[in-house]
Amino acid sequence: MAHNSERHIRIAIDGPASSGKGTVARLVARALGYAYVDTGAMYRCIGLACRRRGVAVTDEVGCGAIAAQANIHFEWDGEVQRVFLEGADVSQAIRRVEIGQAASDVAVLPGVRSALLDAQRALGDAGGVVMDGRDIGTVVLPEAELKIFLVASLGERARRRWAELAKRGTPQALSEVESEIEMRDAQDAGRSTAPLAQADDAVRIDSTHASPSEVASQVEGLARARLDGLVATS
Ligand code: C5P
Repeated sequence: MAHNSERHIRIAIDGPASSGKGTVARLVARALGYAYVDTGAMYRCIGLACRRRGVAVTDEVGCGAIAAQANIHFEWDGEVQRVFLEGADVSQAIRRVEIGQAASDVAVLPGVRSALLDAQRALGDAGGVVMDGRDIGTVVLPEAELKIFLVASLGERARRRWAELAKRGTPQALSEVESEIEMRDAQDAGRSTAPLAQADDAVRIDSTHASPSEVASQVEGLARARLDGLVATS
């Protein structure tokens, strides 16, 4: 579909923890030749930076200052994307369970959210981007041409996360993983600033019984249909 090549859309993928957003977003970005912005990784970087500097995750001024000054960037490394904080590769460090919780803790602070929001909007402005998170379709890119809300059952999300942790050599009991996910979702959906929520115009996809590549093909199909629509109406 060469006629689509000059057109770029913004794709927002939101959903609860371990619903497969990251894998799907990365596959779709690769297929379309788009940038991929993992906004969860940005919150994780702030959680990590606060911990390393001994700033309490409840300290709004301290965490907000860290978020405003943080230098976060992404780089493709083959099929995966690496995350850099102040020039150092933190791709592994930010995936630790306690950093996920620290990310969720700092993510309730309006000062942290507004600092990251500016950076995220700047990354999304050019189009040709797949961005995943909790508030992309509702707050960060409300004008995104395609919005997906990706869900899966709690049991399946816990099983996936549990398998991922075991594969990485940091196994944890399934019941612990499940309660950590449940707690984080409740905090993310219950906060007053930019809570986890489905945008009215988002397409809801349940990945409980679908593989990431099946979901990615579905999203890619929707994206190509949007691109064709743009070409048809231009
Ligand atoms: O997606 P991931 O699990 O890596 O996100 C870590 C945490 O960052 C989430 O639990 C959530 O609290 C926060 N987050 C957010 N808004 C986003 C992306 C992530 O509040 N757009």
